Amino acid sequence: MSEDSSRRDTPLRVAIVGAGPAGFYAAVELLRDPRFTVKIDMFDRLPTPFGLVRHGVAPDHEKIRSVTRFYAGGVEGRTVHYRMFGNVELGRDLDLRDLRQRYHAVILAIGAQSDRRLDIPGEELRGVHPASAFVAWYNGHPDFADARFDLSVDKVVVVGHGNVALDVCRMLCRTPEELGRTDTADHALPGLGSNCVREIVLLGRSGPAQAAYTPQEFKELTELSEADLVVSDEDREIHPITRKAWEAEELDPLRAKNLQIALDSARREARPGKKTIRLRFHCTPIEILGQQDRVVGLRVRRNRQVERDGAVVIEPTDQIEDIECGAIFRSIGYRIAPIEGVPFELDKNQIPNDKGQVLITSGGPPVPGMFVTGWAKRGPSGIIGTNKPDALETVTQLLDAWQAGALPEPAAVVSGGEIEALLDRNGVQYVTYSDWKLLDQLEVQSGQAEGRPRRKFTDVPTMLRAIGDARLSTIRDQQIVSTAGQGKG
Ligand code: NAP
Repeated sequence: MSEDSSRRDTPLRVAIVGAGPAGFYAAVELLRDPRFTVKIDMFDRLPTPFGLVRHGVAPDHEKIRSVTRFYAGGVEGRTVHYRMFGNVELGRDLDLRDLRQRYHAVILAIGAQSDRRLDIPGEELRGVHPASAFVAWYNGHPDFADARFDLSVDKVVVVGHGNVALDVCRMLCRTPEELGRTDTADHALPGLGSNCVREIVLLGRSGPAQAAYTPQEFKELTELSEADLVVSDEDREIHPITRKAWEAEELDPLRAKNLQIALDSARREARPGKKTIRLRFHCTPIEILGQQDRVVGLRVRRNRQVERDGAVVIEPTDQIEDIECGAIFRSIGYRIAPIEGVPFELDKNQIPNDKGQVLITSGGPPVPGMFVTGWAKRGPSGIIGTNKPDALETVTQLLDAWQAGALPEPAAVVSGGEIEALLDRNGVQYVTYSDWKLLDQLEVQSGQAEGRPRRKFTDVPTMLRAIGDARLSTIRDQQIVSTAGQGKG
């Protein structure tokens, strides 16, 4: 393809798979570039947009959710350039080939859908849960609306020292009044609010200066109204090398802050009547203990910190400890689910790419017209905002390829209505962005009547019915207005 052919009047047609933060930042960046006319179709398997902002961010972090205003601001009013097709699943309703035939480029913004497993004996016992399922349940993700969590237990262990683990702890400690002011799913409110958990052991394999959580989120655990963060004297011990680096202000600033909070803000014992979040370091889970088919404890191997080549690393000891508990939430990160037709490197848990351009294999040739952004590109790391520069990098690659005439010409574009025709043929009841706005309005109205930001729809058939009803009543309203107008004339 010559360079000139990319400068013709034909708009650049891009399919974005995934309407989460990664997908939206990519859409906004594409629409922002003044050099090109871009037409974006965004697909998501759920009828609702915003991915992890809707179903991952904890309900008591409402402020983080306000980022959706930025996404909406970037696409609303751009109906010629941006369309959403919700309730459309890649692999079920259409496949990658369908998209490659109809768009110059496909951006995969599919996130990381599966949770990582501990891979230790006992993981299949009742009462052992992926934190991701618990998060999706209290956030009203339709796939998890029927999930069950026995919160009548006295003590739970949360494995992992990342921000998701902190979310789980906080949500278990929120009072019914606090939860009642959030958009926690209706089905989760009673069980969460009246949970019987008195002690949560927050367990990590390394030390207080190695934790993956971020200071702002960690500090929140020390500010809960009905729970105290507790660190024992033993767990306050830090390796001399870490202490030296800390005192010389050579420690990574985020880690230094985490250390400071663990040592200064945490208590040694919880106040009477409060729940306890017991922060434990240097423990690697080795077995989940059960009776009949239920979890009753977690066996851990204690680690110690040692110096190796000037760095502090953990090393297992032969000290074993059993921690009694009635439930375990494993919160040790996510995995990307491979997609048919997309290169995937299992060992790296990544789609091989160069700054977002998908490659056949790491360091290998590109797959023309295929791009990736977000967690599927860089792995499950970073905060929501990390997706913005990440998307810009991917979009830059894509637009450079377009300008250089390096994107394949879609074979099946004639009138522009090809994708709707395909979805109709496949019997897919897709949800547009304006349909979503109807749902959004209904959720917000219903929530505000109860002093909450919104009350979420949590099952797809109900969403589709509500959209159908809302469309009908909009049409009726328009007819009434136009009849009234005719009357006046
Ligand atoms: P994460 O930050 O990667 O943390 C995973 C934790 O699991 C680490 O402490 C890791 O410890 C531990 N771990 C891994 N394998 C383990 C094993 N086999 N046994 C025991 N522990 C193990 O993952 P995440 O919490 O799922 O969060 C994912 C991303 O979302 C992160 O970037 C996070 O910051 C972000 N997020 C942000 C917010 C927010 O900003 N409010 C909220 C939620 C999530 P090691 O260090 O020992 O490997």
